[in-house]
Amino acid sequence: MKFPLTDQLIEEARRFNLRSACCHCFYWRPGEDRCAHDWPDEGQRRWPLDAPDASGARPTEAAFCKEFELK
Ligand code: SF4
Repeated sequence: MKFPLTDQLIEEARRFNLRSACCHCFYWRPGEDRCAHDWPDEGQRRWPLDAPDASGARPTEAAFCKEFELK
């Protein structure tokens, strides 16, 4: 699911110590740099939420995976 990446979302993610990315997920296989389900990267791997993209721009959306399981 994708949501607009607003200043409020970024501030609340920091304040409440949100963990929502692949690196926080039980299904992430860091040694293989992939999801155990082989889900494509729809943006849920990016952390922090406002990490700049390859062009250096701040993303406009945040992606949350329905399969996420906090490890
Ligand atoms: S289940 Fe979703 S959040 Fe978890 S590692 Fe796979 S793609 Fe990332």
